[in-house]
Amino acid sequence: MTVPTPHLHDAVIVGAGFGGMGAAIELRRQGFDDLVVLEREDDLGGTWHVNRYPGLAVDIPSSTYSYSFEPNPHWSRLFAPGPELKRYAEHVADKYDLRRLMRFGAVVEGARWDEETSSWEVAVEGGEVVRGRFLLTATGFLSQPRLPDIPGVEEFAGTVMHTTRWDDDVDLAGKRVGIIGTGATAVQLIPELAKVAGHLTVYQRTPIYVSPKLDGPVPGVVRGAFARIPLTQRATRLVGTSILEVLMVAGVLHFRDLPWANALGKRVCEAHLRRQVRDPELRAKLTPDYDFGCKRPTFSNTYYPTFTQPHVDLETTSIDHVDAAGIVTADGRRVDLDVLVLATGFNLWEANFPAIEVVGREGRNLGQWWRETRFSAYEGISVPKFPNFFSLNSPYSYSGLSYFTTIETQMAHIGRLLRAMRKRDADVVEVTEEANQRFLDRMTGLLGNSVFNAGSCATARSYYFNQHGEAVLLRPTSTLSATREATRFPLEDYAFAPARLAASAS
Ligand code: NAP
Repeated sequence: MTVPTPHLHDAVIVGAGFGGMGAAIELRRQGFDDLVVLEREDDLGGTWHVNRYPGLAVDIPSSTYSYSFEPNPHWSRLFAPGPELKRYAEHVADKYDLRRLMRFGAVVEGARWDEETSSWEVAVEGGEVVRGRFLLTATGFLSQPRLPDIPGVEEFAGTVMHTTRWDDDVDLAGKRVGIIGTGATAVQLIPELAKVAGHLTVYQRTPIYVSPKLDGPVPGVVRGAFARIPLTQRATRLVGTSILEVLMVAGVLHFRDLPWANALGKRVCEAHLRRQVRDPELRAKLTPDYDFGCKRPTFSNTYYPTFTQPHVDLETTSIDHVDAAGIVTADGRRVDLDVLVLATGFNLWEANFPAIEVVGREGRNLGQWWRETRFSAYEGISVPKFPNFFSLNSPYSYSGLSYFTTIETQMAHIGRLLRAMRKRDADVVEVTEEANQRFLDRMTGLLGNSVFNAGSCATARSYYFNQHGEAVLLRPTSTLSATREATRFPLEDYAFAPARLAASAS
């Protein structure tokens, strides 16, 4: 009995978050209609579907956090709460008719380029193979939860929850709650836990910079104006984006040239801490000893004051182990707990990059190749020996502070390339090794000026850095430059070929 060859889609997209939806919208614009979006979760929205913990909100101004071509005039606050982001994702999926392309509960195991047919074969858990002329992975940067390597966590007899697996049915009222981690997620969650817990112990390994949050409800009259006169919202977005851009470019990327801009960010956070916490000992514990920007700073007006409440303890002694009853620190002290929350973040450099196994031409395995050579991706999206492949969550792809800047830059890059293929009557496109190396060299050079290389980041334990100590997550250029390059990159940086030729040339 012969197994029928699976249908060949125009493209297979992995991930139904904002990245995957942006990719689908762009492919549609370029005339590709036969798309399939494979999503391991049971609904769309990516981060905003998975994360449901109390206090979840966007951590940059909402005015900048949407597709520019699909503004949302309805954000209720300057920093919109998580459920509104999820509703916005649903709105986009409905308006752009993306839902019918999506398959939920489809766990992708890996993808392989098939030279014979010049197409991608994508293996889905359960044995199914899905084929596409193009493969786009939009699996997110922060999608593989990290469980701490602390002995005994599995022995804990109470409830354990990672923040990405929040369970609203767990009753926290009056309980002894412990939380490990003080990253951006914990900064949002800790004040909410303190409102209900009988006692809260926060286990901090590395303090985080927290700046004041200029938050508040967006008045109805402003929302009305945004809906009726889109120009007003575009202007607000431009202001928000420009502020973030100045912070990023001056304070982080041009650290060596403009150390005062970075110092300013640090001072703002330190003054915020001084205003909110009087106790010098507590303040010292909450003060980072690395440069501002080495790890993502965050905004909150409620985080620091939480530690001044009598039922909240900040524990900075390292954790020795967890047992059935609670946590024991290295000095032998124990704290008994009913609930243990793991706000321990995400595993980028071992479990992500890429999130699935991808094998290209000549058997090149993307994850292996990145680890054995260096992490690289031309313009943060293409990799040599991986034809017709766009990796949206690649080294040097994250541009600016709103993820939508990255998504739209990548949409522009994909659009330009697909138009060029059509013009050349090409079926297969692949970035050249030379272009990839040139881009990598340029990014490496630019990083030399940034806080990551020129600053003091050794104690930050930032996920921006990979296992070789290189900060290859963020693109060290302005977003203006990234946006410009997405529409002007030299087309000669790619090799174009009809399917037949691409197969015989290998
Ligand atoms: P994170 O920044 O990686 O923080 C993880 C925390 O867990 C750190 O404090 C880390 O300490 C601690 N930790 C991990 N393993 C540990 C161990 N074995 N022992 C003790 N402590 C341990 O993760 P996150 O807070 O989830 O935030 C990740 C990113 O998500 C943020 O930077 C932000 O970009 C994004 N985020 C976005 C939003 C939004 O609204 N858009 C909201 C929340 C988060 P060390 O620092 O010492 O490793």
